[in-house]
Amino acid sequence: AKKQGRNLVKPFVPSMQDEMTKRIRVEADLRSAIKKAEIVPYYQPLVDLKTNKIIGFEALARWKTASGEFIPPNEFIPVAEEAGLIVDLTDQLLRRACTDALSWPNELVLSFNLSPIQLSDRLLGLRILKILGDVGLPTHRVELEVTESAIIQDAVTARIVLDDLVNAGVRIALDDFGTGYSSLSQLSNYRFDKIKIDRSFVSSFETNDKQDKVIKAIIALGAGLGVTITAEGIEEESQLQRLQDLGCHIGQGYLLGRPAPLEELTADKAGAKVS
Ligand code: C2E
Ligand code: CA
Ligand code: CA
Ligand code: CA
Repeated sequence: AKKQGRNLVKPFVPSMQDEMTKRIRVEADLRSAIKKAEIVPYYQPLVDLKTNKIIGFEALARWKTASGEFIPPNEFIPVAEEAGLIVDLTDQLLRRACTDALSWPNELVLSFNLSPIQLSDRLLGLRILKILGDVGLPTHRVELEVTESAIIQDAVTARIVLDDLVNAGVRIALDDFGTGYSSLSQLSNYRFDKIKIDRSFVSSFETNDKQDKVIKAIIALGAGLGVTITAEGIEEESQLQRLQDLGCHIGQGYLLGRPAPLEELTADKAGAKVS
């Protein structure tokens, strides 16, 4: 048994060291990337499924390294959170995204993601409003995407932050709806402007009859609460068709437009245009 234990432990130790070395390196690189503003927002269109018009864009962070390689947000956002870099990174990205949004047609909305841990920062709302004010982007053109887990972590502070923002005219979207553990209680506790149905529902709902019913029910729930419903991850024409039939308000996905840098925000496959 002793021998076996050794065999199990041995390969585990170096891999942990590798992990740590990698982490330290990524953290240092990230710090420098923020300093050099190498992390930039890409924009994915949000499309009105009735009129086929773009109503705004979601900003999605992209880290373009010196070697031209792109690191996706799921890899560096958690590092930024743990390393205490998320505040600086968010301020920088938001400032940049708001400035970009000023160059869009007036009615288009900027949707911006907040990390769960940020909602336990009492001053977040005021800092965001300060940035909007500095840049000169009206609050009604900004929507912030938060997840359920973000609100549950520190409900009291989250409420203070969201109230600051909502009172100033910023809209709040509940992101990744259906994947958390307390969706319905959050819906009755806070007034969201929008619910974003998670991609996992959209990608499987044609092959899964129950999933179809779930989407239908969420759309009905939205209608009852007066909340706009967005479906994420639309990749197929048939998914788009079905969501339109079900009366889903807004769509987002590769079919309607992939995330792209500011310079490339023009037309897309589904024919939706920046009007
Ligand atoms: P999310 O907020 O749920 O964003 C949607 C993700 O789905 C994006 O991944 C987007 O590129 C991807 N996506 C969009 N349409 C499709 C589709 O049709 N098919 C598929 N397979 N994927 C699609 P991305 O850009 O890699 O971002 C991943 C996550 O990272 C985001 O998930 C969000 O939670 C987080 N994130 C991105 N940017 C930021 C940021 O600036 N701040 C914070 N705190 N989080 C961010
Ligand atoms: Ca989002
Ligand atoms: Ca989402
Ligand atoms: Ca997500």
